[in-house]
Amino acid sequence: MQPQEATTHYDLLSCTRRDLEALVEELGQPKFRAKQIQSWVWDKGVTSFDDMTNLPKDLRAALAESCTLRSATVAADLRSTDGSRKYLLRFNDGASVECVGMPSGPKLAACVSTQAGCAMGCAFCATGAAGLTRSLTAGEMVEQVLHVQESFGTRVTSVVMMGQGEPFVNYEQTLGALRRFNDPAALGIGARHLTVSTCGVIPMIAQFAREPEQFTLAVSLHSAVQRTRDALMPGVRRWSLLRLYDVMGEYTDRTGRRPTYEYALIKGVNDTDEELTYLCDFCRDTLCHVNLIQLNEVPGSKFLPSTHQRALDFVRRLESVGVEATIRNSRGADIDAACGQLRQRLG
Ligand code: SAH
Ligand code: SF4
Repeated sequence: MQPQEATTHYDLLSCTRRDLEALVEELGQPKFRAKQIQSWVWDKGVTSFDDMTNLPKDLRAALAESCTLRSATVAADLRSTDGSRKYLLRFNDGASVECVGMPSGPKLAACVSTQAGCAMGCAFCATGAAGLTRSLTAGEMVEQVLHVQESFGTRVTSVVMMGQGEPFVNYEQTLGALRRFNDPAALGIGARHLTVSTCGVIPMIAQFAREPEQFTLAVSLHSAVQRTRDALMPGVRRWSLLRLYDVMGEYTDRTGRRPTYEYALIKGVNDTDEELTYLCDFCRDTLCHVNLIQLNEVPGSKFLPSTHQRALDFVRRLESVGVEATIRNSRGADIDAACGQLRQRLG
């Protein structure tokens, strides 16, 4: 059967089975072709249409005309002494993003970017300093995970959307990617092993709470004092901490899941006793977990990381008011693994 021309453009890495069925229908092909294409994309991980050898040649050509499969090239590949690897991927239009693979025993976590750059302008973040180039498509997010998986030669078991960009200003594409990660016919990673980190875009946190999947949420808090947070995170100034507190209450009531607050300790800025008291008040009697992050020093930035002793003080005080807290040591510091640093240097 001669394939017809498709009028829609399909990004195969973001397609559901239903999308693939619509595609083969547009091409005037029988429905079983959708299953074959799905299997080539996900089970066999082909990178070109020509590798789909059980499809007729003219169908492969028609697919190449109307679909995208992979579009990134590797602009840099760095290995850390701790085993993590960081890649700079460049898309067709020149936009580049970072992704990281972090192995831990049999597990492999992938950290992916949701935008090339970011418009939120956080004062401590290398990505924020560079501004936004553009948002990524779901397929471009999926491609990062596939890249990590292929270069490690093992399955990715969890994904954190903590690379460059603010996922909740690119909500639809981010959710589309999460669904491909989660779909048993695609990557099949459990929803609880899929985490999105937001700087606190309130309306989308409320929306995320209403999604049926049990994805995990992390919120970058960095200060529970309004004026400090306003200075550190100008992009979310329009939403007060009170509104963040309320929406997180809504989130936990609705989902019953424990969100994480990320808090990068910055010497003399958000690690003072007063800041700690406000943080305890913000978290006390709520369902949450505080992740105290060691600040990655960004070249040219005035911010310095706090001491480990100070991080321990934070853990102790938070625990004394019943709030779970852990210290997360930054991985891959030797390969500029902090958000946006590699792109800033090589981009
Ligand atoms: N835009 C989202 C997700 C990407 S940033 C967000 O802000 O949550 C992922 C995490 O890295 C965030 O918690 C962010 O605050 C943190 N981060 C950014 N720059 C950092 C730095 N220099 N040191 C430590 N953490 C940093
Ligand atoms: Fe954007 Fe997140 Fe960096 Fe802030 S910390 S500038 S929201 S990527």
